[in-house]
Amino acid sequence: APAPPPARHLFSDPAEVEALRWNLLAWYDQCKRDLPWRALAATEPDADRRGYAVWVSEVMLQQTQVATVINYYNRWMQKWPTLQALAQASLEEVNELWAGLGYYSRGKRLQEAARKVVSELAGQMPRTAEDLQKLLPGVGRYTAGAIASISYGQATGVVDGNVVRVLCRLRCIGADSSSPSVINQLWDMANVLVDRSRPGDFNQALMELGATVCVPKAPLCGECPVKQHCQAWRRKLFGKPPPVPDVEDCGVGDCPLCPPAMEPWDSSLGVTNFPWKAAKKPPRAMRTATCVLERRGCHGAPEYLIVQRPSSGLLAGLWEFPSLPLAQDLQEEKEREELADHLQAWMGRPVAAKDLQFIGEVIHIFSHIHQTYVVYSLHLDGDVTLDPALSLSRWVTEEEFHASAVSTAMKKV
Ligand code: SF4
Repeated sequence: APAPPPARHLFSDPAEVEALRWNLLAWYDQCKRDLPWRALAATEPDADRRGYAVWVSEVMLQQTQVATVINYYNRWMQKWPTLQALAQASLEEVNELWAGLGYYSRGKRLQEAARKVVSELAGQMPRTAEDLQKLLPGVGRYTAGAIASISYGQATGVVDGNVVRVLCRLRCIGADSSSPSVINQLWDMANVLVDRSRPGDFNQALMELGATVCVPKAPLCGECPVKQHCQAWRRKLFGKPPPVPDVEDCGVGDCPLCPPAMEPWDSSLGVTNFPWKAAKKPPRAMRTATCVLERRGCHGAPEYLIVQRPSSGLLAGLWEFPSLPLAQDLQEEKEREELADHLQAWMGRPVAAKDLQFIGEVIHIFSHIHQTYVVYSLHLDGDVTLDPALSLSRWVTEEEFHASAVSTAMKKV
């Protein structure tokens, strides 16, 4: 078994834990942002509806800024105020509402899980983090902890990106914060720290601190309600680790939570020495040819052809202009020919490569892919009707395009 981490990285003094909880909650009560899901969780008397409201907000907030989420959240809760309403929605409706929020599988999984609660759990949300994670597809450890603590008052901690940053700074944890052993240690810490009487507020307070004060680049340590408990801050002030009895155990090579030897404390970075992450793999580069096919609609307004993506994989089930992934380093002429062949399959009639007009390139960064869309256009004359067997395509006006389940990348195109 790995050696336990030295005490200076832990919260082993009960009096300090109590003081930290008190300071953090007092600050939260005074400074927290008013957010629609917080208001709902605080006032909704029905436990299932509370759980549902928190669940939707937590899923939307994964990898997405609060400011972006608010509008989506309000529209979602207006359209599907209960689990039962969501369970009856179609995937197309879910994708339409989710369009532009990114990471599209989140909406789909949320809806699948809602259907499961209705059909297999008699409409009742599981009440503990363990059951939420076990019974609901797509609900991971973080979301389960957030729902259980905020909606049902279970004294269980949560660890998201904000909490990782705050805890690593509070305890000078400089080992790779994306490694499973450090993440496990942070979960243990969050479970020790969580306030027993106000677990939901405490967890939200810790995340709020990370989102508004202990921010990644220029943290506001002077205004921080827990600075007196923060080892990174003290280290910045005094230039060395805080004097605790077992300090000799740390930073000398094999402490599992100290920075690696080749990443020593950099005084110019101050508290932002923490957290530290091993370098990520750069995103994969991809090129995709895409064609905006345009025809005159029956009222004379232009219409555009969109086709539906497969139901699994990247941007599953979303609509896009006919697109074709390209091999790297393909000559332009060859790109056109391949795209023309691809379009022919959708159109059911020959398409000449020379008729495709090159418009430009659009770059869109997905989390792990650096995507370049090579954009062409083609105007079609006369009556252009599609083979009804190709039900995964349709002509839309510009307005209909924007109301459809299309990705941000396609809107850029
Ligand atoms: Fe973060 Fe600074 Fe507060 Fe420490 S003192 S928790 S580094 S904001």
